[in-house]
Amino acid sequence: MEEKISPARLQTRAVHAGDRKPLEGFIPVTTPIYTASSFIYKDVEQLDKVFGREVEGPSYSRYRNPTNDALEELMASLESGAGSLACSSGMAALQVALQVALTDRRKSIVAAQSLYGASISLLGKVFDPMGVNVKFVDFCDMDAVNKAVIDHKPGAMLMETITNPLLRVAEVDRIAQLAKSAGAALIVDNTFATPLIMRPIEIGASFVVHSLTKYLAGHGDVLGGIVVADEENLEPLRAYSRIVGPVLGPFESYMSMRGIKTFPLRMERQCANACRVASALAANPAIEKVYYPRDPKHPDVEAVKRLFSPDLYGAMVSFELKDAGREQVFRFMNALNMVVPATSLGDVHSMVLYPSMASHREASPKHRERMGIRDNLVRLSVGIEAAEDIIADLEHALRHA
Ligand SMILES: *Cc1c(COP(=O)(O)O)cnc(C)c1O
Repeated sequence: MEEKISPARLQTRAVHAGDRKPLEGFIPVTTPIYTASSFIYKDVEQLDKVFGREVEGPSYSRYRNPTNDALEELMASLESGAGSLACSSGMAALQVALQVALTDRRKSIVAAQSLYGASISLLGKVFDPMGVNVKFVDFCDMDAVNKAVIDHKPGAMLMETITNPLLRVAEVDRIAQLAKSAGAALIVDNTFATPLIMRPIEIGASFVVHSLTKYLAGHGDVLGGIVVADEENLEPLRAYSRIVGPVLGPFESYMSMRGIKTFPLRMERQCANACRVASALAANPAIEKVYYPRDPKHPDVEAVKRLFSPDLYGAMVSFELKDAGREQVFRFMNALNMVVPATSLGDVHSMVLYPSMASHREASPKHRERMGIRDNLVRLSVGIEAAEDIIADLEHALRHA
């Protein structure tokens, strides 16, 4: 082997030896982590064709990377999209989707008033100061959405499939039709529902966005996001990304893909556990109100029945503690022995979050009140533990609140 390395100096060997072995004659069973920032071909003519996009292939990792390609193909497949773009976080994915949607459309956004806190900030503190018209409305009120579309002529509309933290479910299919007829791109944040429960592109959305950090990666060990696009919007998405480079690192791509392999299994179990936890909480005298889409008295039962996969209602449960404020909620959270008080959701372990302190801290108290987020509201992300253990821990902490 030694004589095959023609340049003999150590410094030269240090950067050439061992590397650039063509993958021929075998196929790895999982996609390796390609950390290479650029890619070369047998001759420059071939590289020229790749640069010119006459031939498919990686050339530079801001344009595309084989590890990211694998994750993007997987996510496009799960969400029935034409393709997707892996981004460095869920928020980066949302920023990219909005930016791409508005490039050739009217600089006006009609957004659901119930959104993830940072998404509200993205619209109010990033897009609005750039001169984009931003209007928030209640997306569960179709008359209000209709009126906002007529008044504000949006180029983009933004909503979540299951809202955070009150778990409302708007009529994505009817809103998608409305967006289409108005020439607006509908962007749906499907982080809470996941493609197991709903696939918005199948019912007319232009873009689906996820925080991969949550159910998809699922283990609390990776930050990432994804934009899935329909046929019409895929090339503009790729073109924007090639210039701006909001891309996910290949290690995080690998971690996400590893997590996604078990995501349907985890999600089914988490949904089943959430049903049991919601019932137990509803029967607890220390609880004032439980929010869960399976509740027959849920305000959006019709949309849930029409849009959700059968027998799946998501794995988020929100609830209000009776006669409680910030102090009692803190005592409740401190008294939990197993459920983790962490600022995330969708992991294998159960987690509680206090929206007024965390996810909706950035929203003004007035906006919080309009969204119905009270100071006794707690949001629970149900994990894959034994349902009995989750319930026992919650009941114990409620006794100590
Ligand atoms: C977490 C989350 C985001 C943001 O994702 P990051 O990966 O934290 O940037 C956006 N939308 C929803 C619904 C989320 O839960």
